[in-house]
Amino acid sequence: MIHGSLAPVESASWQTLLANSITDPKQLLRRLDLPLELLAPALAASADFALRVPEPYLQRMQPGNPHDPLLRQVLPVGEELFEHPGFSLDPLGEQTSNTQPGIIHKYHGRLLLIVSAGCAVNCRYCFRRHFPYDDNVLSTDEWQQALEYIRADASIREVIYSGGDPLAANDKRLAWLTREIAAIPHVRRLRVHTRLPVVIPQRVTDSLIDALCGTRLPVTMVLHCNHSNELDMPLGAAIQRLRKAGIILLNQAVLLKGVNDNADELEKLSEALGDHGILPYYLHVLDQVKGAQHFHVDDISAQQLVGTLLGRLPGFLVPRLVRETAGEPSKTPLYPQLDCR
Ligand code: SF4
Repeated sequence: MIHGSLAPVESASWQTLLANSITDPKQLLRRLDLPLELLAPALAASADFALRVPEPYLQRMQPGNPHDPLLRQVLPVGEELFEHPGFSLDPLGEQTSNTQPGIIHKYHGRLLLIVSAGCAVNCRYCFRRHFPYDDNVLSTDEWQQALEYIRADASIREVIYSGGDPLAANDKRLAWLTREIAAIPHVRRLRVHTRLPVVIPQRVTDSLIDALCGTRLPVTMVLHCNHSNELDMPLGAAIQRLRKAGIILLNQAVLLKGVNDNADELEKLSEALGDHGILPYYLHVLDQVKGAQHFHVDDISAQQLVGTLLGRLPGFLVPRLVRETAGEPSKTPLYPQLDCR
């Protein structure tokens, strides 16, 4: 065992927490009193996709438990290095939709902006773990070109801030970008996909809310929360601030083996989201990205799980089970299988 202690985070700024994230597998194991035999595979797997976990997220993990569902989402493991047929570097074919730096234009009427190449946490299941972020760090001219792309296409009604994690960008950048987009008459909505408030709730500040909500555009925030243990009190307080600001809150989870692939946990997650006024929007089956095969849950099991949820929860708390397939014009629904016993 490697031993260590937990540090306080209450008074730290989000920038400090982000900058001080743990990136060394040995430090992570030490902090959580985990067995040293996990270190060699963690080092090998993190050479391909780095470890990154911020303190407020770490503090929700159970020390001494190598199967903790939050730890499992961030700990590099040896299985990531195995080759599996069907698992690829770019499972959603995004590199063909990355038509110019900063833009991914896949679906009619909406477009993704890569607002930040960085994330506060590196999720081992991430479908963009091999994305060429270095080609999507924009210069001032490239930002203007990205905005020009939106201005020139009147079919774009919704701009989606994505990344990396878009909230890793500073508030000045977000405020500028939001004002520029709001000045484009055909854009009607702004959506923000983020995991940052989940892992660093301190990211939700008055300044962030002003940056996102200071224009005519209605704002929807899609949080990426995968397990009920992620919904702690600091996150609850952050969510209340977002709700007070009038931001519509949805959640998108990924169905992950060993994390949330059982009906009891999925029910608990939906109930916890409901308690905070967040609608469970999507439950994604895993995108088949190389290195994430150990999280895979087969379709039948996934459909049965959501069928079980239908019998336990009101319809508005049952997420839609979907798959994203490269080249398809939308996400594909997978219909729940009802338990008829
Ligand atoms: S926060 Fe989102 S983009 Fe970043 S590693 Fe996690 S899943 Fe991927």
